[in-house]
Amino acid sequence: MQLTLWTYEAPPHVGAMRIATAMEGVHYVLHAPQGDTYADLLFTMIERQAKRPPVTYTTFQARDLGGDTAELFKTAVAEAYERFRPQALIVGASCTAELIQDDPGGLARALDLPVPVVPLELPAYQKKENWGAAETFYRLVRALADPACPRHAGGRPRCNLLGPAALGFRHRDDVTEIAALLDRIGVDVGVVAPLGASPADLARLGEADFNVVLYPEIASTAARWLQKTFGQPIVATVPIGVGATRDFVAEVARVAGLPADVAAGASRLPWYSHSVDSTYLTGKRVFIFGDATHAIAAARIARDELGFTVAGLGTYGREFAREVREAAAHHGVEALVTDDYLEVEARVAELQPDLVLGTQMERHVAKRLGIPCAVISAPVHVQDFPARHSPQMGFEGANVIFDTWVHPLMMGLEEHLLTMFREDFEFHGEAAPSHLGTAATPDRKPDPAPHSAGWAPDAERELRKVPFFVRGKARRNTERFAREQGIALITVETLYHAKAHFSS
Ligand code: SF4
Repeated sequence: MQLTLWTYEAPPHVGAMRIATAMEGVHYVLHAPQGDTYADLLFTMIERQAKRPPVTYTTFQARDLGGDTAELFKTAVAEAYERFRPQALIVGASCTAELIQDDPGGLARALDLPVPVVPLELPAYQKKENWGAAETFYRLVRALADPACPRHAGGRPRCNLLGPAALGFRHRDDVTEIAALLDRIGVDVGVVAPLGASPADLARLGEADFNVVLYPEIASTAARWLQKTFGQPIVATVPIGVGATRDFVAEVARVAGLPADVAAGASRLPWYSHSVDSTYLTGKRVFIFGDATHAIAAARIARDELGFTVAGLGTYGREFAREVREAAAHHGVEALVTDDYLEVEARVAELQPDLVLGTQMERHVAKRLGIPCAVISAPVHVQDFPARHSPQMGFEGANVIFDTWVHPLMMGLEEHLLTMFREDFEFHGEAAPSHLGTAATPDRKPDPAPHSAGWAPDAERELRKVPFFVRGKARRNTERFAREQGIALITVETLYHAKAHFSS
């Protein structure tokens, strides 16, 4: 048992739903109790899809458990086939149905339907959403990719784009961006999958010269199988950020046999972050958390392209913990691998960064702690499925990222004014960034550590004179100093002793 309030990922069958919903002509029959249809809302409400997910639930109830739930499942499959006439079916169980062990695969096979039926084994008590999506995509590719499919002949090099799915953070716009970039450098896109692909499209995956894995969490397993089966090389660089996009272009050029100096376009990010107005960004401490792919990419952009200091890096995706640990070591920090948001919150409170880059959860955490925040990864809420074109990938993605990350920060001039006029009615130390509404930003007080010393009122007042962006650190250091010295009440004197202690 684990006490859980927020989860970063849904159960693995939601991952399977993301694949089925992304595709055309695939239907998913899910053995699940009444109530599991809640997952439809993720697609119709959060992602604002205009159609219901192609999922039929058996929706068994308590009274069905005394009867034949296996028969219920068979009837659901037969009816779903009759009604939707899909080109392929996937069948599986949700968490509760897993416990009643009805064997959806065997039951569906017994119906002898005239279309491919792909059974899914998704261990709901060990695995989660992204794993479920990866496994489903892999099973579909394995079942449907035609081993006799000939490699295309002549013309420009061709690749498949693998990984974009329903409910993916900016997947729609990333595909548009990367397909355009590949076209500019002279590479055609064969199949994009699972997003928008039909079973017939999966059958012709073998035509392409190589595969581009845009989202390793979803497409790595399938790409490795395609590499083994069709000898298709994998382009594994994820093009998020200017540097990564350039590396991606170089890798594509190498794999596709194009000249290494192929012209791919450019982003405004490098000039924007070099322009003098960005000087104040230098050295800002940033805490990064999300799925492994977006977190690793964000850390590189933060340090190499915006001049931030990576103060913390972590992921909830245990399957990619090794990659995140490596990246964290590269940035000189210890990786945080957890799916417990309270651990994330404690780390943010401890580090007191100037900016948090994370998921919807970190947005709440940062809001509570009064720290600016931008979203870089799923899980996300409805506002991160925007109407406008908002990729994360490619050169335009880097433009979007620059704007999104800098936006929640105080503007340079404003920050300067705050330091100079702390007593001003507008630019006082408690003021929120002017473009983010009028609400006061609370001082960043972490939850008090056990046995922490109290603050005398004049010491609190003195602390408020410290510029807000280093005030959290000053508070933390002073409290640590007081604890170490056995001081119960922090006075102005303690504050300055602590300052001297830590700067010596
Ligand atoms: S079966 Fe799984 S997804 Fe459905 S309500 Fe229970 S725990 Fe949630």
